[in-house]
Amino acid sequence: MAPETHADLSFLSRLGVKGVHIPGTSTGRHSLDPATGPTDPATLRSTTPVDGSLIATVSSTNRAQYDEVVERAQEAFRIWREVPAPRRGEIVRQIGDELRAHKEDLGRLVAYEMGKIVEEGKGEVQEMIDICDFAVGQSRMLYGKTMPSERPEHRLYEQWHPLGPVGVITAFNFPVAVWAWNAMIAAVCGDVVIWKPSEKTPLCAVAVQRIVARVLERNDLPEGIFSVIQGGREVGEFLSTDDRIPLVSATGSIRMGREVGRTVAGRLGRTLLELGGNNAIIVSDRADLDLAVRAIVFGAAGTAGQRCTTTRRLIVHEAVFDELKERLIRAYSGLRIGSPLDPETLVGPLVDAEAANAMQAALADLREAGGEVLFGGEVLEGDGYEGGNYVRPAICLAENHYPIVQEETFAPILYLMKYTELDEAIALQNGVRQGLSSSIFTNDVREAEAFLSAQGSDCGIANVNIGTSGAEIGGAFGGEKETGGGRESGSDSWKAYMRRQTNTINWGRTLPLAQGIEFDV
Ligand code: NAD
Repeated sequence: MAPETHADLSFLSRLGVKGVHIPGTSTGRHSLDPATGPTDPATLRSTTPVDGSLIATVSSTNRAQYDEVVERAQEAFRIWREVPAPRRGEIVRQIGDELRAHKEDLGRLVAYEMGKIVEEGKGEVQEMIDICDFAVGQSRMLYGKTMPSERPEHRLYEQWHPLGPVGVITAFNFPVAVWAWNAMIAAVCGDVVIWKPSEKTPLCAVAVQRIVARVLERNDLPEGIFSVIQGGREVGEFLSTDDRIPLVSATGSIRMGREVGRTVAGRLGRTLLELGGNNAIIVSDRADLDLAVRAIVFGAAGTAGQRCTTTRRLIVHEAVFDELKERLIRAYSGLRIGSPLDPETLVGPLVDAEAANAMQAALADLREAGGEVLFGGEVLEGDGYEGGNYVRPAICLAENHYPIVQEETFAPILYLMKYTELDEAIALQNGVRQGLSSSIFTNDVREAEAFLSAQGSDCGIANVNIGTSGAEIGGAFGGEKETGGGRESGSDSWKAYMRRQTNTINWGRTLPLAQGIEFDV
């Protein structure tokens, strides 16, 4: 089916991002210039992957503007850290309410600027709302421990303090939710946030910033609590090289994570890295194949394969291999590919031509290594697909050791491989450099528990009878090995945004030393 080209785009005007040139240091209160076109090389062009048309232009943040943003953030931090944490939670609650009011429009903007289907775009905004709710509760639970002191008349405890301005660098594929995972938790912790969104999705950040700025203004709080800087890698480097930024949370490719990790470690700052995955599902001969097929298709073809948790490898027991393969091909044949704004669509376009080319190159590498494309893989042209980067999700036969299978190709390619014994399947699942998400489909409790045990999956996320993608915000999210080791969102991830202070108070009249040391003067 051809993409729908005459969709209702009124959400752009309601969010104030249509046909405008937007300055690169967005505060949410700036005036908009009429679109003048990309005359300045430092101008980002926001185009839609639906048909490649220009939505708006945004200027990159330059060094002087960046320094102003950091100074404003530092000033805001001095105020914000004094606001009691539950009151900070109240501000986050109001942000959640604003997001509820804008869920439909913001979800559509995510779909239009990034290319995921509207249903998933709205799901992303729902994730922001969920993390706001979570953070409101967390604002009353920034618990420190009290320990018994070994000395009489002493109290020993720890408390948590905010860090300062936190840099948040985000990827194109979750243009709003990843900011919220970081920013809402950081905010209740008392930090202020400087956001560098992907250069491919600058308008989503502008729209979020406007929503947040209204809440800050209404509560008479400084706008420097949440700032946005725009641009590519160079602007991200402003944050990673700046020792005024104690923590840089960076989501993106492993290449980016290595660079940011090395730079921030060089100044002994902290990083929270959320990088690429190479996620597998094991399907046992004791699996419910109906469940498995649905989870695999959503995990592998959903978001056009552009999730960090996308299912990229399928490790199938030899007894069910042929049946599962046939069922997947049948399911893939019925996938409706088209405009993400069309409610009938299940698979939208890839973000840009570079992504479509990378997919074609990966399939060529696969064939060269001895693999086979069983279904799909082609770029869709004509029939109204002009200007977009629409591809048919691919199902392939592959071996785990092929170099291309060892890499994350950010496109819908599913590699099928066979196993005989569970140990072998787990070794294949773990036999890649990345360690984000994994799952097993089985109705056998022994297999499930073996997969979840210390000898089982080595990933940050390990599921049973659920696919690899679509995590809830309540758990800590992140992965091991080259995925970077960071944990964000729920559980006790808040600790990453604070500094721990251990306090010992002597309320007695003597000065006993620890370990019973005598030192009389
Ligand atoms: P990318 O690495 O190209 O860019 C990510 C962000 O990093 C962008 O904002 C970019 O401008 C910035 N950047 C790039 N190089 C930088 C540098 N040297 N210093 C500072 N900033 C730099 O990634 P992408 O194509 O936008 O996103 C796709 C990748 O993100 C995939 O690998 C995907 O798996 C990963 N991802 C991971 C998670 C996770 O939670 N683990 C979530 C979403 C996406």
